[in-house]
Amino acid sequence: MQRCFAVLPQARCDSVLRDIAHGDTVLEERPLLCTYGAYDSEQACYYCVRSLEAGTRVRLCGRWFCSEPCRIAASAEYLPAMSACSFGRAGARCVRPFHELETHCDDIGERFPLLAMRLACTALTAALQPRPPPNLARPPPWRGDPLADLRLLAFANIARPPPQPWQDVFALLRRGIDRFAASAAGRSQPTVAAAASALDLEWYTDVMARLHVNSFRIDTTRTPTASQSLAALAAAAVAGASGAGSRATGSALYLLGSLFNHSCVPNLDVLFPVGNGTLRLRAARAIPAGEQLCIAYLDVNLPMERRQDKLHFGYGFYCTCPRCLEEL
Ligand SMILES: [Zn+2]
Ligand SMILES: [Zn+2]
Repeated sequence: MQRCFAVLPQARCDSVLRDIAHGDTVLEERPLLCTYGAYDSEQACYYCVRSLEAGTRVRLCGRWFCSEPCRIAASAEYLPAMSACSFGRAGARCVRPFHELETHCDDIGERFPLLAMRLACTALTAALQPRPPPNLARPPPWRGDPLADLRLLAFANIARPPPQPWQDVFALLRRGIDRFAASAAGRSQPTVAAAASALDLEWYTDVMARLHVNSFRIDTTRTPTASQSLAALAAAAVAGASGAGSRATGSALYLLGSLFNHSCVPNLDVLFPVGNGTLRLRAARAIPAGEQLCIAYLDVNLPMERRQDKLHFGYGFYCTCPRCLEEL
């Protein structure tokens, strides 16, 4: 497969202002956007990607959630558009306007279009309910505005029009948007129509250009074994490619976590300490003030040439970290 974009050179993350001790937490952050993928998956919470293997779970509109707060948050943020339903009102039923896109992504293990769908549904839900009904909680204050915040992230430079496969997947997403807009006819029609028309191919390309270079992979359903090195686990957390052959993974996007540069000798470990999408970056060693903070975007146990190939293909750069320079 030929890589179809180049990444714009941008200053992404900064150096530390003070000495940091080994093991210190440098950042803990909730995701701006995350998805586990599959509709009707009993593996992980649809909202926070926490494993559902143990403990209680609740269901709404064909999705499983780890807790009532997650179900309520999804109901407030995007589920009304994603399921085109009206939650318990007489005669309400879920019509799944995005079923073709969900099935397609599930079949090929693709996650990024599902994140774009979540974002689209956030916009459509907001348009549907300019003022949220009192029984639905507002999104928690740490989340900001995913539609606006996404624009702060670095992006890949994608040709216009985008590659045909992207256009094909967008057509599935667009069909869902149109279906939802038709089902919402009569309710908040002008705001829904305006939101729907803004979700065009240009918008999708803009979103995908950011997802491709900023997403992390999360697997909360497997417990790491002693034989897996922390480096390999940390690297596996940063998505090189969405899906990437594993169906049991989610993808997440962070406002700050996505800003860190790569190194094959990273000074930060990537962890998901509470078993959901919450990201923690922890000092892998003592870090003196002035040093740049870095994470690994891939498995640093790979040989140098493979690392360079993967970084160039996935992120558009060749690594010049101290280790790569030494191994040249
Ligand atoms: Zn949850
Ligand atoms: Zn390197």
